[in-house]
Amino acid sequence: MEPVGTMASLQVASEIPVRSPWPRQVHRGKHGSILRLALILLLCLASLARSAEPPRPTVPVILISVDTLRADHLSCYGYGRFRTPHIDSLAQGGTVFAAIEAQIPLTLPSHTSLLTSTFPFVNGVEENGEVVPPGALTLAGVLKAQGYRTAAFIGGYFLARRFGLDQGFEVYDSPFDLRSEHLAEALDMKRPAAEVTLKAQQWLEDHDRQPFFLFLHLFDLHRPYDPPPAYRARFGEDEYDAELAYIDSVLGDFKDFLARRGLYNPTLIVFTSDHGESLGDHGESTHGYFVYQSTLHVPLIIHWPQGAGPHPARVEASAGLIDVAPTIVQALGLPVPPSFQGTSLFPLLAAASPASRKVYSESLYAHDNFRCAPLRSLRVGNYQYIATTKPELYDLSRDPSELRNLVTAEQAQASSLQEELRALLSRYCPPKPPVRAAVDPEVRANLHALGYLEEGKPEAALEESGPDAKDRLVEYRQFLRGTRLIVSGRFDEAAPIFEAILQEDPDNLSAHYDLASCEVQEGRVTDAVQHLHAVLALDPHNVTALELLGTAWLSARNLERARAEFERLVSFYPQDYTAQYKLGVIAILQGRNDDAFRHAQAAVGIRPQSAEAHNLLGRVDFERGELDQAKGELETAIRLQPPFPEAYYNLGRVFEKQKRNGEAAKQFQLALHYNPNFTAAREALKRLGATP
Ligand SMILES: [Zn+2]
Repeated sequence: MEPVGTMASLQVASEIPVRSPWPRQVHRGKHGSILRLALILLLCLASLARSAEPPRPTVPVILISVDTLRADHLSCYGYGRFRTPHIDSLAQGGTVFAAIEAQIPLTLPSHTSLLTSTFPFVNGVEENGEVVPPGALTLAGVLKAQGYRTAAFIGGYFLARRFGLDQGFEVYDSPFDLRSEHLAEALDMKRPAAEVTLKAQQWLEDHDRQPFFLFLHLFDLHRPYDPPPAYRARFGEDEYDAELAYIDSVLGDFKDFLARRGLYNPTLIVFTSDHGESLGDHGESTHGYFVYQSTLHVPLIIHWPQGAGPHPARVEASAGLIDVAPTIVQALGLPVPPSFQGTSLFPLLAAASPASRKVYSESLYAHDNFRCAPLRSLRVGNYQYIATTKPELYDLSRDPSELRNLVTAEQAQASSLQEELRALLSRYCPPKPPVRAAVDPEVRANLHALGYLEEGKPEAALEESGPDAKDRLVEYRQFLRGTRLIVSGRFDEAAPIFEAILQEDPDNLSAHYDLASCEVQEGRVTDAVQHLHAVLALDPHNVTALELLGTAWLSARNLERARAEFERLVSFYPQDYTAQYKLGVIAILQGRNDDAFRHAQAAVGIRPQSAEAHNLLGRVDFERGELDQAKGELETAIRLQPPFPEAYYNLGRVFEKQKRNGEAAKQFQLALHYNPNFTAAREALKRLGATP
């Protein structure tokens, strides 16, 4: 049996003859002068020196991750309800890996494991919203060092650049800069597959004459669903399948594009997902809470470049997503970096009946939100063992849906797997557990709105203290229902849900926080302050709660108390965008222009792509009489976010002050065009004698 994640360092592939699809550039010299002869001699010497180095790989690589894709919903994995012909076609002449498991069923952590080939408890990214440590070696970084052009096109907010997975990518296209004034609209957090692939195609048109690594992330299968009307009509209620059929069709178009450019045959294409979706299995509707096959089992299909192989069409042996990056590196003939903890899948291709690997997975979600014991699992062959307060053991060959817990019937097997799990954790767990980086409070609020929040980090050991996640399922489902009601603005319906959770579990920080956010929206500031103080009593540096406390006082027009809370927050977390922004707004309202300038500048520094921050700075410049600077900032705000009535209005005031009345009127008209109820803009037009 293969050991898990043996340090597969420095193994160099010999299985694949790597043939360059790229013609060599030949430099033609002119003849006749001594100078030229010397140059030719130098070139010869240089090329001799070069030939001593191993040739650099040139095979193009495309990694496609279809977020939230259950393996068993693809027809090449046996799905019978409809076909996914385009995804299946990648397997023609390629290899389907039948038993691949994610190391963690959450988007950012799983992609971090995939791209850095490290265990979540080692790299420290175990929840969405955390930040990949600077200096992490990603697959993109390895290929970039080999002269590859590297680009990522991202479909969902969870992988936005700010979370640090952009390391090693020259281009990291993730347009998810949310405005903080509003609770993020859930649909703003994703962009459709067709848009993502179009961007990727545009990049390929400019870069495909050089070796490249393209990472394509399609997020359509992640809730909330929004399938195109034709797919909605075809699949009705079954929006998950509707989104999948849509993605399959987009990938068909993408494959045609590659074929037209002569890229399909020579490219190594790796198709996978970060985790599945429970769709009601075990009482879980989405993913992240449990570690069952519904969310761990993901597809892995490899389309080999022309000339590679032959490789088997199907590999039954189990392995992990952590093994994908070492496989790609080996396929290019490169040594596997020592920081990679996965093992190349090539040995599984070579053996007639390869042994399954031990595969580790985990979820801290129930621990972080409901103070349950962490879930850690180990798959060995057909057995799946889950360590928790009430441990579970399943035989996946006889019971693929994991309905019959064998932990009592097969006690010896369970104990042996538990010991192997313990050994694995102690082998890989660093002497000092990684420190969880502070999560940006705005990010926390956005994630929270989608049902994600984290409170603390356990040690990576088998400490099964705390309630079993299975026993907190009811609260979890209530919690999800409440957060969905908040996202859709139904605060009066959401509040009683969190009140009920607090009845059962009075110290539940998430419930206190959520209830407070409903109360702020309903204008019940005193109640909100009480619940936020409850959060801060348990967790004094809870930045999200401090931020909401300031916002609550601001909504009650108590500027001094709001200012005090935001200043407290900034004193230990100066990078808090919302606090800096709101301190700027408060300072303007109080006529403290120098303070306003300082905070507005800080907000722009933290988030240079934020239109509202540039608008604020422009407004402050205007108040300080710096009209040219004001104009520059306001024009930036408008460029970043064209339908921005306040910025047009502020720009109009700058022109008005400069006595450029015609231009001023034009800006006021634009402000009114985008917001017909903008009274100040209407009055300004009247003042100028212009018609609205
Ligand atoms: Zn995901």
